[in-house]
Amino acid sequence: MVSLFQLFSIGIGPSSSHTVGPMRAARLFGNMLKEKGTICSVKKVTVELYGSLAMTGIGHGTDKAVLLGLEGETPEDVDPDIVEYRTASISQHQELTLMGEYPISFDTRQDLIFHKGKRLPYHSNALRFKAFDLDDKVMINQLYYSVGGGFVVSHEHLQHSSAEESIDLMPYPFKTYQELLQHCEQKQMMIHDIVMENEKALRPEHQVREGILRIWEAMNGSIERGFFQEGILPGGLEVKRRAPGLYQQLSTNGNVNDPTEFMDWVSLFALSVNEENAAGGRVVTAPTNGAAGVIPAVLRYYLEFTPNPTEEGIIRFFLTATAMGTLYKLGASISAAEMGCQGEIGVACSMAAAGLTSALNGTNGQIENAAEIGMEHHLGLTCDPVAGLVQIPCIERNTMGAIQAITSSKLALRGDGTHRVSLDQVIKAMRQTGEDMKGTYKETSEAGLALHVPVNVPEC
Ligand code: SF4
Repeated sequence: MVSLFQLFSIGIGPSSSHTVGPMRAARLFGNMLKEKGTICSVKKVTVELYGSLAMTGIGHGTDKAVLLGLEGETPEDVDPDIVEYRTASISQHQELTLMGEYPISFDTRQDLIFHKGKRLPYHSNALRFKAFDLDDKVMINQLYYSVGGGFVVSHEHLQHSSAEESIDLMPYPFKTYQELLQHCEQKQMMIHDIVMENEKALRPEHQVREGILRIWEAMNGSIERGFFQEGILPGGLEVKRRAPGLYQQLSTNGNVNDPTEFMDWVSLFALSVNEENAAGGRVVTAPTNGAAGVIPAVLRYYLEFTPNPTEEGIIRFFLTATAMGTLYKLGASISAAEMGCQGEIGVACSMAAAGLTSALNGTNGQIENAAEIGMEHHLGLTCDPVAGLVQIPCIERNTMGAIQAITSSKLALRGDGTHRVSLDQVIKAMRQTGEDMKGTYKETSEAGLALHVPVNVPEC
């Protein structure tokens, strides 16, 4: 099972699998050295990146994330404003401070190795850390996989990057929507009630509610910050931030007679978050960073454009979205390196559609219908970010995901909850489509849009 606080975690951009996960993996390695009591004997550390991390790691900030993780930083607490300075200083002085305490030499040109074109069997996003002693002998050799959404798996056993939580304690486990529905029917509960009962096995209800509101506050903070950050996004693609201009236009020249204007606002909310993400700013992984704008945009739509929004609606939104995210994580994957963009924007759209339907008092049948519609029209969506940067098509794609989520919810709420295609069927179809998708369309930046939009971005 997956907790709400694992699916939604406050971190930094631009990528959950390529930035957040690698930072957690590096810190896990540092912690392991500490726990084994060997950290003070370490002379140097090397980091090897494989698969998609090697192909698109530079554009996604994997190199910087790993350095900061080795220094003991976490995605939750690292100050986005010090990332550039700290990593530049490590490169320049060829020294980092392991877990913030033990200075070691680290030459980024030699000790950070990108195995381009080499993929390890278990997952495309693999990182190998080695610690060497004073005689240059390998003391510890540890392999991790960043499996999407900031989740990290060690080669030996599954482990979560956040505090170890006994997910087995959850009273209502489910892997399919049918199993979730059975719990709902047996207990005469809504989906959000079931998820709340599961979360209550891990922490008291008031902490769950406070935690959800903190997550929303962080999401809304990304929206609001993005309104005012002018300029060009980093990475060399020369992509101009559009959110500030759009915000200016809508807040000063809004057309009250245009009934579709809410769509411009929803697009603005999503753009705002994902421009912050692309700039390496503070965002909430939801359920990934590439798709971090969909859920905040739809929730802000709920608060600003639907009648009588409530705090209870926000809580229900997150709990229900968590149920959907869990189904995708357990039944398929939320990693673009495995599923293409279906696993990011597709899943975020499906989660948001279900969350909105729940906030608007939809039935369980309508919620399932909304989630199913949200994914059905993302099947086959490839991941091909230009120059390996989470900018084109990623930023705009969040606007599309948010609008589709609202449409999916509206369609479902107009119906009575009955529908021909089940959520479980569409998740199976998504997984199969992801497995059959040619590897180059799964976060390698070697095909699709990335191939046909020529760029000249220096790799340095
Ligand atoms: S194309 Fe989609 S999956 Fe790929 S990096 Fe962009 S948002 Fe993520």
